[in-house]
Amino acid sequence: MLALAVSRGILFYNGREMVYTPSMICLTGDIHHSSLKINEQSFIPDPEDTEIKIAARYLRIVEQFGLKVTFYVTGKTLEEEWRDLEPVVRSPLVEIGGHTYGGLPRSFLSRMRSRISGTPTVSHAANHGSCRRQMRDTRRMVDIVAARTGSKIVSWRSHGLVVDRHTYPILLRSGIRFISDELSWDKLRPEVTPEGLISHPINVIMDHDHIYHAHRTRAYVQRQKKNWGFPADPTRESYPIERWADIVEDQVRKIERAGGVATILMHPLCMYTADRFATARRLFEVFSRYHSIWARETELYLED
Ligand SMILES: [Zn+2]
Ligand SMILES: [Zn+2]
Repeated sequence: MLALAVSRGILFYNGREMVYTPSMICLTGDIHHSSLKINEQSFIPDPEDTEIKIAARYLRIVEQFGLKVTFYVTGKTLEEEWRDLEPVVRSPLVEIGGHTYGGLPRSFLSRMRSRISGTPTVSHAANHGSCRRQMRDTRRMVDIVAARTGSKIVSWRSHGLVVDRHTYPILLRSGIRFISDELSWDKLRPEVTPEGLISHPINVIMDHDHIYHAHRTRAYVQRQKKNWGFPADPTRESYPIERWADIVEDQVRKIERAGGVATILMHPLCMYTADRFATARRLFEVFSRYHSIWARETELYLED
């Protein structure tokens, strides 16, 4: 592929002719099943409401702005909450990607420990367990989407960005081609990993770990900074959501000027618990000035 960055966009050869495209944003969100009981789900005020229903409302705003979005969903959302998830999956603006089948549930012991100490801790296990277990989880994820929708997923983000040496070979063998697990503000274009997957790093400050919201109080953030689980993340700072959004806007603008693809992570649940989608709406309005693409379309914008 021949591609050339120009001042405001990318000129690339599509096999027949040179085509000019404006710069791209790749909007993504991760969605988890209710029975996973992640910390933040307990901040949903209405007991009848769920993360999936919140994602459906988030999608309605996304649709108002005509944006494409890639939702990485856990397999159990399709298994256990299909009725609420189905309208999301059926939207012509949505690509569904894998986010592990089970969401790396924590062990009983680990949950008991944090209940006794009264401190909220990370909401997922630190690793995938054995290679065989990870293979089974990946297969179940791919299979449940095929069973529910008749189509194969090709995009993936690991829940909690937890990856080990088995993950990418397993994904490749399972038909996955696109991943978005890396945190990097310097990689403005997708790249091919040594395993042959196409990686489009999250190159804009991600939401959950950089916004004060839900259980992420100032005291919690201070504790978390000492025990930071994302060594590759360019910052440990957290901000009020409006300030975080200023940074997002600034980074997207810079990536646009450099002719890159801005991969943005905005969880429906975080956007809801933080300020009932007020900031999401503000950012979608900004994003609507750019072309949006799904994860599975990032191949067109590969680094030379
Ligand atoms: Zn997740
Ligand atoms: Zn959050």
